Amino acid sequence: MNTVYLGLGSNLGDREALLLESIQEIKKQIGTVSLQSAFYVTEPWGFQSEHPFLNAVVCCETSLTPLQVLDCTQHIEKQLGRTHKSVNRQYSDRPIDIDLLLFNNLILNTPRLTLPHPLMHQRRFVLEPLAEIASQLVHPVLKQTIAELLQQQAH
Ligand code: ADP
Ligand code: MG
Repeated sequence: MNTVYLGLGSNLGDREALLLESIQEIKKQIGTVSLQSAFYVTEPWGFQSEHPFLNAVVCCETSLTPLQVLDCTQHIEKQLGRTHKSVNRQYSDRPIDIDLLLFNNLILNTPRLTLPHPLMHQRRFVLEPLAEIASQLVHPVLKQTIAELLQQQAH
């Protein structure tokens, strides 16, 4: 069994319903959700928007491989109405975004998938909900706990 942490975000439509629905689909398509953070209201990061985000992190036990999990999360994004993806870090409003944050202690760099998620340690909207459910988890590249990474955030 593998443990995967998934970061969820929505800033369009009924954000709470979309997060809840994505968690239902994660249970159906990926595996057992063993931990689930609260939903956090956060400001858009990396782009200008008048729509604040709702963010959460879940921990999921799965027998799938990392790429199979990515296939599922991208399928769920489409199912819930996401029509386009970010290109060259040009971010935009989205009904639902699901990112793979950590997969066991795996370090992976492929064109489709980077693990741990390359920006997770810079993003308070990821670290805060993740610290709520797994503060003592150690980032396999940075070798620091999630609580330590959160403390280093500027604001
Ligand atoms: P973002 O989440 O940065 O706004 P997208 O969700 O549109 O962007 O994803 C862009 C691409 O990032 C995807 O096509 C996917 O192949 C790639 N990617 C690389 N690493 C990851 C990861 N850890 N989790 C999710 N997507 C990833
Ligand atoms: Mg994404």
